[in-house]
Amino acid sequence: MSTETHPAAKYKRVLLKISGEALMGDQGYGLHPPTVSRIAQEVKSVHDLGVEICMVIGGGNIFRGLAGSAQGMERTTADYMGMLATVMNALAMQSALEGLGVFTRVISAIPMDQVCEPYIRRRAVRHLEKKRVCIFAAGTGNPYFTTDTAATLRANEMSCEAIFKGTKVDGVYDKDPKKFDDAKRYDTVSYDEVLQKNLGVMDASAIALARDNNKPIIVFSLDEPGGFRGILAGEGTYTKVQG
Ligand code: UDP
Repeated sequence: MSTETHPAAKYKRVLLKISGEALMGDQGYGLHPPTVSRIAQEVKSVHDLGVEICMVIGGGNIFRGLAGSAQGMERTTADYMGMLATVMNALAMQSALEGLGVFTRVISAIPMDQVCEPYIRRRAVRHLEKKRVCIFAAGTGNPYFTTDTAATLRANEMSCEAIFKGTKVDGVYDKDPKKFDDAKRYDTVSYDEVLQKNLGVMDASAIALARDNNKPIIVFSLDEPGGFRGILAGEGTYTKVQG
């Protein structure tokens, strides 16, 4: 595999964040293998441009700490269960990507050596240089955080040029576009406006961490076939959250 990035690619190294729910298809719970494969195809098409790719996948399709604690479970235990859910999702994505011939590593913030690699920053950077897709699992390894914050943290540590947040809509709107016909999409929006208007791009700690390190967040639709690659090539619709 060439170490060069395709001239059409606007970024050399990016982090793709998707929620666990993106992997469940229409099922309402768990993993839907055809959906996982479809997203893996999107990732492969960007990888084919020579772009170095980090991924963080949430766990909400399996377990969320807050939901567990609302039902009487001790919060930190529930959060660890949520983190373990992200490892399952990461393994599913690894399997789908490797099925397409893309080399990957699952790298967990909670060491589990029989299953995947522990997080060692320098080793992860080396994997990226060798064009392996690094799927960061188990969030930050700490309760009371989310995978959005984990995504921003890893994007900073790995010197990614941008965080790509794949969602069900093609950007950030002033109100829910699925409910309001007159909802307007922002082309760009500032971190502070996202926080002040509570625009729901990512949770507040993740936005603040991106703002403090000047890391752009590109919100785009993962449901649009070819959308991820299109944006990498400077096309398509999306919202850029920036300073
Ligand atoms: N989680 C955590 N620390 C982290 C990341 C995640 O405790 O650094 C737990 C938390 O309970 C969260 C769950 O893992 O609810 C699943 O992650 P998240 O809700 O971010 O998943 P998504 O909504 O993106 O699917």
